[in-house]
Amino acid sequence: MKNFLLSLALLLVAVACTNSPSIHLVSNGISQYSIIIPAKANDQENRAATLLQKYVKQVSGCELPIINDLKTGQKGIFIREKAGLQYDGYRISSTDDGSVTILGGKRKGCVYGVITILETYLDCHLYSPTFKVIPASKNLNLPLINLADSSVNNYRIVNYFSQAYQNDEDLMDWNRLFPHYIFASHSFNWLVPWETYFKTHPEYYALRDGKRLPTQLCLTNPEVLKIAIEKLRKEMAANPTQVYWSVAQNDYGNPCQCEKCLKIEKEEKSQSGPLIRFVNQVAKEFPDKMICTYAYNYTQSAPAITNPIDNVHITLCSIETDRSRPIATDTSKAAKQFVKDIADWGKICKHIATYDYTINYHHFISPHPNLFVLQPNIQLFVKNNVFDHYQQSDIAEGHEFVELRLQLISKLLWNPNIDVSATMDQFLKRFYGDAAPLIRKYIDELQKDMVISGDRLNIFGPPSIHQNTYLTAENLEKYSGYFDQAEAAVKSDTTLLHHVEVARLPLSYAILEIGKTNIVGPRGWWDNSGTVKSKKMDGILDNFYAVMTREKIGVMSEHKLTARAYYDMSRQTAGKVYVQHNYAFHKRVVPDPMPNSMNKYNHADLSLLTDGGIGDLNQSKPAWIGWETDQIELNLDLDTLVNASTIEMTTLWDTDARKILHPSLTECLVSAQKEKGFVPVGRIEIKGNQVNEKNIRTHIFKIPGNTKPFRYVKLKISGNKFMPAPYPTVGQKAQIYISEISVNK
Ligand SMILES: [Zn+2]
Repeated sequence: MKNFLLSLALLLVAVACTNSPSIHLVSNGISQYSIIIPAKANDQENRAATLLQKYVKQVSGCELPIINDLKTGQKGIFIREKAGLQYDGYRISSTDDGSVTILGGKRKGCVYGVITILETYLDCHLYSPTFKVIPASKNLNLPLINLADSSVNNYRIVNYFSQAYQNDEDLMDWNRLFPHYIFASHSFNWLVPWETYFKTHPEYYALRDGKRLPTQLCLTNPEVLKIAIEKLRKEMAANPTQVYWSVAQNDYGNPCQCEKCLKIEKEEKSQSGPLIRFVNQVAKEFPDKMICTYAYNYTQSAPAITNPIDNVHITLCSIETDRSRPIATDTSKAAKQFVKDIADWGKICKHIATYDYTINYHHFISPHPNLFVLQPNIQLFVKNNVFDHYQQSDIAEGHEFVELRLQLISKLLWNPNIDVSATMDQFLKRFYGDAAPLIRKYIDELQKDMVISGDRLNIFGPPSIHQNTYLTAENLEKYSGYFDQAEAAVKSDTTLLHHVEVARLPLSYAILEIGKTNIVGPRGWWDNSGTVKSKKMDGILDNFYAVMTREKIGVMSEHKLTARAYYDMSRQTAGKVYVQHNYAFHKRVVPDPMPNSMNKYNHADLSLLTDGGIGDLNQSKPAWIGWETDQIELNLDLDTLVNASTIEMTTLWDTDARKILHPSLTECLVSAQKEKGFVPVGRIEIKGNQVNEKNIRTHIFKIPGNTKPFRYVKLKISGNKFMPAPYPTVGQKAQIYISEISVNK
């Protein structure tokens, strides 16, 4: 496709004469015009004609006939596909006698030509399945038009979480996007299922530390190649029209380290080496199909020797990079690596797509100020010969600035060099009316505050990780002020007011979530004494839920957290604190070993273990402290001798993360002396693989009545070293998450 694009490169410069209108398309609701398409019109010619007819009628009430031959005395808008024009490109011209001709390149050129007229001259704008700006006028005039346009990009895909978006064909065309399609998907297990083969042929799978694991395939095993090819042959026979087929790694990391695989990896200076050699062999078998694979995670870097053959399609994933700044100018190691990798792949691949990450997947409704890095990133991709784009944006109702984000991404995919700021302002004006300047101020300030703070944007991180950088109490107050003003500015227009209220949801969410990691205190849900619950926080939650419900907003995370579940979870999390009668509140816990670096979302802040609140199940678990080990000792110093009735510890079992299990055994000991004289007061064992466990479990140790006053508490925790069957992560290291320890009067 690259050569094709270059050879047919078309003038992008559009020359439109916008003098006095000279084409009277509809006058007083009546038109002399017909839409002319070829007698044997193809799909796109029919679609273009129907769209023009539909929207001209919506605006003016006048239905233009669609015909094949123009009768004398009538005027025509001629629509037809033209060979030689670039895919999706179009040319619109008009003549002095008032006829208009729309010529379109293959696929959608005619459709996009019509939409250009509707958008540019008739002011029709489609922003979401529910918000479409269609003006009303009995008189429609066009200037003389002479313009041509096409896109540098071939496949422009933005994925949708929402069916309403996905099924809105007009909106899709307005945005010049292709339907949701993934070139590569995690398919190793589909090709050679471990459920079928692992028991009898463990050698088909990855050798890890001397043990075979079903994480990935062993790509140098000839039987694996044979099975994969046979599977594809069978599937292709059943789906003969499907061109793109995936041969790509599972999403579990841990590639094969057998001698043969390692040898290739060494020769190719990348773990993509064994993969590309394998994929090339598959692709050779199916020369008329495209075989798609990932350059992702451990295969992100290009192989040094082997080039993908012509019918191999590479999807390069930018998952390691951060979203706060353009990848091209980011000085972080991950960004520099990506810039090198995209340049390397761009040189050796005929077909390459980027799989780019543009939102926060665990917190769809959360401030994610990346709107100004969309452009430089897409420009970087294109500069490196990437003309196929998959923008992983999970578009759905209620997500942070979803309509704006879709608008910017789709326009950038068509033309990476648009004026983003002007495009944004045009959108904001139509979508927020008089509140637009305040929404723009919020967007700009949020972005500016993030840049000044030097903080980075993680695609999974909860808002609480930014609570001391750009989501400070002071900034949240400032942003809330903008929204108060924005709501006041449009209070008389229900539609616009609702738009502003939805735009405010991420800010409210940030306040609520930050409150959960400061459960007691000025930013939290309770006052310092843990006796008075914050009415303000309850109000924000109630309002958040009310707007979510009114707008029928479906899900809040890629794990499909619903508004109702979030509401209930938050009520429960914030509903109880362990402050009064808890001797452990704000006391120091010394763990051995220290928690792991996977706690990047709370910096393994040990004070969370005795902050008085139990974390909830919302993604990223910012209120939980985690270990990737099977033996932990927690030592708690209560500062004074106490007589307590119970000691409690809450732990997590998380099916989403797939690696978090409750401890299998916890022993609780107490002593009046430091580091000696401990006596056991209880032990709790959880047997088996825990498949039926609850997510949150409170281990309660009842202290025997004859126990002497104590000051020190020791919890000896044993867990599973590795994940047991039947979890898909079987064999990988298991984790233990703890939220709260209390010693109760
Ligand atoms: Zn191997």
